[in-house]
Order: sequence, then structure tokens, then C-alpha cells
Amino acid sequence: MQRLPFLTAVAADGQAQVEWLRDQLRQIHVAMPEHGALVSALNHCLDIARARIDSLELIIAAAHPELVPRAMPVVHQLEYLTGTVGVTFLPALRGEGDGERFVRGVLFAAARAAGMTWLRDIVAKLDRPHAAIVTFPEMPIVYAPPRHQVALADMPGLYHELAHAVFARDQAIGAALRASVRAHFAEHRRRGGTLTAEKRSARERDIARADAYWDDERLAELFCDIFATAICGPAHYVSFVELRLRHNRDPYALESSEHPPLSARVSSCFQALAIHHRKEPVVRAMADAWKAHGDVHAIGHDYRLACDSSLIDELVRVARIELSRTLPDHVMFSEPLRTDSALFEIDDQASLETILNQAATIQFLYPRQYSAWEPGALERLREIATLESNARDTRLLSATFYSGGQNVVGPVTFEPRTDRIRRRIDSPDCGRLRIGKVSCACWRLEIGQSNESLAN
Ligand SMILES: [Zn+2]
Repeated sequence: MQRLPFLTAVAADGQAQVEWLRDQLRQIHVAMPEHGALVSALNHCLDIARARIDSLELIIAAAHPELVPRAMPVVHQLEYLTGTVGVTFLPALRGEGDGERFVRGVLFAAARAAGMTWLRDIVAKLDRPHAAIVTFPEMPIVYAPPRHQVALADMPGLYHELAHAVFARDQAIGAALRASVRAHFAEHRRRGGTLTAEKRSARERDIARADAYWDDERLAELFCDIFATAICGPAHYVSFVELRLRHNRDPYALESSEHPPLSARVSSCFQALAIHHRKEPVVRAMADAWKAHGDVHAIGHDYRLACDSSLIDELVRVARIELSRTLPDHVMFSEPLRTDSALFEIDDQASLETILNQAATIQFLYPRQYSAWEPGALERLREIATLESNARDTRLLSATFYSGGQNVVGPVTFEPRTDRIRRRIDSPDCGRLRIGKVSCACWRLEIGQSNESLAN
């Protein structure tokens, strides 16, 4: 009963907060209608928050000693819901500027290569190192450094962050990886041979610790590294190694964070490369640099046990199978890396992955020519980003191209919202979308269907 004044205050504040958040979402919806699906999901969170406040008020009104303790879980749920909307998503949405819109389009392009057909929206936020929030895997927030607005450096890391949404959405991925870990250590236990009781129990303890080391978070990180390398190719491997070499960290350290040791991560990235990419000069150069870094650090017993190369190889194999199962439309980057003068050419049809792999090759093999080359590459990336963002804006497609039912009006040209870019649907079935001289497969055509985000 002593909690009643606290509960009354929480209910009153919760109500004020929900109303304010609703108003904020209304404003965001007007200013950024392309985030309509996300705003709907957040409004749904507020509906649940409202229901929790009603429950609290019932408990307060009853003021019964047996009911009051049940209010605390309700308070915690309310805090989670208002925090998700007001602390996690609201600042990310409100901070969307030109850089964020650009990176959002880049992420859509990466998601297309990964075959993430279920992705509905992305919020990009350029204010910190790479990270992702996957509360709604279909609508993740991806954080990235501000420099992404003007430079390609570290950009392959975006694929890793998208992969967190994939891992969070499909729990079977984690289950398959965990099963591999269990099987590996079960086999290891069997190979003990004849030992004294004391040695056997010490060995058992070590194995149990190594087995437990591979928890969900660390398996997720390894999966994301493998995913990023498979989809983005050598550019991700090179970028990953380069980023790790810039920091002074022991590559074999097991403690420290929810991430696996760097050496195990670099190995899994390398194994995830197409065979013909592993011999590429830029990959060899970075592999050699990484080896030199590893050579000055000692490999401890715990690392050898927890990150045995046969386990890492097996986890890469299973992750690749899981990637194919959960994203059957993904495209592994397999283009041979360019050489000679073709390396510096920027095709007007070049994909995001092609550009990033050119960037990696030029940056590390021809560093003095990089700064002259990068602006043209960024220009092409901006085209891709605009195209991807607009292709996802199904309000434009459905409202403009279709006259109802399955009847397609086209091929046609129209002015999209920006009034700057002309688009043309060549064939509604395959959904080719053209902006200026750029053409690519359209993400999703909702034939004759108006988007719910238009309605509310
Ligand atoms: Zn991660």
C-alpha cells in the first residue's frame, strides 16, 4: 500500500507522456510520410501503453493490498513501451537529415542484395559507431558514423548491422548455430582419453566454459560478420580487418564484450569469402597485415579451446546454410575484382557492392589515387540511394501507376514527389524502375493497393 502514491504519479505521468508521444508521431508522419509503417507500429506501442495505464488506474482505484504488488510489472512494461517510442525511435526519426536519408537508401540497396524482401523501413542515424536496434526486425534503426555522409570508409560495416535484423527475425538461425557449438564440444568431451579424476574435472570445467562462451549475442555477431562478407564480398573483409587494426586490441582476448575475439571474427570473414576472392591481391594484403598483428600476441589456452578453427569453420558452414534458408533471394558477391584501368571506371549501372569493392581495391592498392576517385563513386551511390528510397515509396507507385484492380497503366512516366527525377515503369511484372539513366529492379509493387500509411 505504501506504493500507491508512486503508482498514482506513474499513471499520471504515463498519460501525459503517451499524449505527447502521439502528437510527436503525428508531426513525424506529416513531415516524413515514407515512415508511415513505422509510425503505425509505434502508435500501436502507445495503444498498449495506454492499456497498461488503464490497468494501473484500476489497481489504484481498488487499493487492495493483494493487488498493489501486481502493479510493478505493469509499471515496467509501461516504461519499456514509452522508452521504445520516446527514447529509442523518436530521436532517431527526428534527427533524419540529408546524410541519414542517403545512408537509408544505401541500406535499402544492401538489403536488396541480401534478399531481405520482408524489410519495411529503415531509420538511419549518423551519430555514433555502427550499431543496430532491431526491436522491430522489419524496421530496424541502424546507427553509423557521421562521415558516411561524405565518405565510403567503413561503409561495408552497414551489412553487418542489417544482419542483426535477420538474426533477430529468425530464431532458427541462432538455434542452428548453438546446436553446432554443442555438437562440437560434445565431441571434444568424448576425446578426453585416460585422465586422472582431477585432470578430467578441470578439463570438463574448461570445456563447459568454452561451450557457454558461445551465447546468443556472440553467435549473432559471428553470423552478422559472415553475412556481411558473403553479400558485400572482399570489401567487407578488407574493411573489417582495417577497422580492427586501427584499434589497439588483443586479437585473441575472450573477455571484454559480447563480441567474439577479433581473430575468430576475421577468420570467419575470410572463410565466408568466395574461393576465388581469397587470392585477390587486396585480400592477401590485408590478410598479411592481420597475420603480422596476430604474431605479436600470444594465443591463450581459452582461445584455442573456445575458438578452435574446426569450430569456426563449422559455424561458417552452418551460417551459410542458414543464410540460404532464411534469405533464398540473397546474392553472394562473386564478381571478379577489377584490375587495370577498369578499376577506376564508375559504371552508371554499377551496384553498391561493385562500388564498395572498387573502393577497397583502390584504397589499399592505389591509395594515392583514392581521393580523386571517391567523389565519382559517392555520386553513383547517391543515385542508388535515391532510387532505392523512391522505389520503396509504394505510395507513389500505387497512386500513380495503377488505376485499380490488377490493371496496369503503363508504361508511363511521372514526376515523383521530389519533382526532379523522372521515372518510368518498363514492365510492371519484373518491376523495372528507371530514374534518369539509372535502372534497376523495383523492390515491391503493390498493384492497385493504396498504402495504409496514406490513410492515417
Ligand atoms: Zn554486431
